[in-house]
Amino acid sequence: MNARPHIGHALELVQADVLARYHRGRGDAVRFQAGTDDNSLKNVLAAGAAGARVQEFVDRNAGAFGALGGALSLSVDDFIRTSRDPRHRPGVEAFWRACSGDLYRQRYTGLYCTGCEQFYVPAQLRDGRCPEHEAEPEPVNEENWFFRLSRYAAPLREAITTGRLRIEPAGRRNEVLALIDGGMADFSVSRPAMRADGWGIPVPGDPGQVVYVWFDALCNYVTALGYGQGGPVHGVAYRRWWAGPGSRVHLLGKGVLRFHAVYWPAMLLASGQQLPTGIFVHDYLTAGGRKISKSGAGAGALEPAALAAEYGADAVRWWLLREVPRVGDADFTVERLVARADDELANGLGNLVNRVVAMIGRYRAGRIPAPAPVPPGGEDLDAAIRQAGDLVGAALADFDFRQATAAVWAIADEGNRFVNRVRPWDLAKAGSAGRLDAVLHLLARACAAAGRELGPFLPDAAARVTAQCTPDGAGRLPDPRPVFRRLAP
Ligand SMILES: [Zn+2]
Repeated sequence: MNARPHIGHALELVQADVLARYHRGRGDAVRFQAGTDDNSLKNVLAAGAAGARVQEFVDRNAGAFGALGGALSLSVDDFIRTSRDPRHRPGVEAFWRACSGDLYRQRYTGLYCTGCEQFYVPAQLRDGRCPEHEAEPEPVNEENWFFRLSRYAAPLREAITTGRLRIEPAGRRNEVLALIDGGMADFSVSRPAMRADGWGIPVPGDPGQVVYVWFDALCNYVTALGYGQGGPVHGVAYRRWWAGPGSRVHLLGKGVLRFHAVYWPAMLLASGQQLPTGIFVHDYLTAGGRKISKSGAGAGALEPAALAAEYGADAVRWWLLREVPRVGDADFTVERLVARADDELANGLGNLVNRVVAMIGRYRAGRIPAPAPVPPGGEDLDAAIRQAGDLVGAALADFDFRQATAAVWAIADEGNRFVNRVRPWDLAKAGSAGRLDAVLHLLARACAAAGRELGPFLPDAAARVTAQCTPDGAGRLPDPRPVFRRLAP
């Protein structure tokens, strides 16, 4: 919360939204939780630099993050703010006490990067600088609480190698195993309250220290569920969503992998809780070939809410889902966003739906012809329609959003190809009524399938497509209306 959101932040929110919508659509019970990590030292510094009070400063940025829900059509069920939410602090205190068997106090000297909020050993630095922030860490000598991470190497390794804790992509899983095998040093889980300017949650029974921001922030996953409320049984939501059976999946960027895949599972084991079942790690976006800086020049133009206001949530979501690979960084430019949306949405899917609805209106008075065998030349389109559901399911089980959207896009692509090949207008002119019925029926099926399969990815556009393909009470399709606008000037 040390700055406003940029396009990179939108990525994992949109990915999580797709998974949530997909599973809800299949009848699974889903709880989609997001939130803001407010209690960091870097917020104290950033607020100071901006001449603002810390709470006001993080409130302002958190407001911009919260507003992404509406701007990007996210179906977030719960949004927790660690500095404001009354569920959080008692949950962190309970979590701390549950870990007390693994906590001890010790004086420590180390190199600290405030950007990362972590200590580094010299071997982890690149030319003496933090590899993430390219800033020189500062030497810190202080007394902190430490967490006995070393105790959890074996159980953690076992959870990962057996797949009980699934980390994707595989390269990230190997990275975590290498971290574990490289030796897990105990890590400090508190800071002197003085150095934190009093910002953060006081350590239970030791008010001179505040809880380390990562220990604090990671707890959000269970404090929002009522962990630490209702005594040792915790809240109802906790028992249902965390302590119960089912999947517990985190989505995160590669820069915070260690915290989510090493510290967090160890904290859960120490406090006697279940582990997450899955962790999906995305790489980073660059903008115009450069690292996205939160506060740099032009950062405002990369704000997801501003992009959605200008180009529509559909176009922003489609770019993130279609162009960001499962492994590797992706480069964002407005030109790419516009080209992708115009190519595949306006000229691809939008054009198909528009043509099909118009032809059914013109040739069949808006009535979709009765089911008929697939006409010659329609085999590929028929296959794309029938396979889309399975392909989407398999791709999403693998967190492969590009592959999943490709299956939906294939329907539009094959549909337009089919129209160009069979030329329904020629069939109408030649009076081939039976042939034309079969062609129009297949095309209507394609549009309906595209609307249905698009739902998790572009909920707003999916609703417009479905409305175009749904007959009214009199059995007629509505008049054709564009489902996407063209974005290029
Ligand atoms: Zn750093």
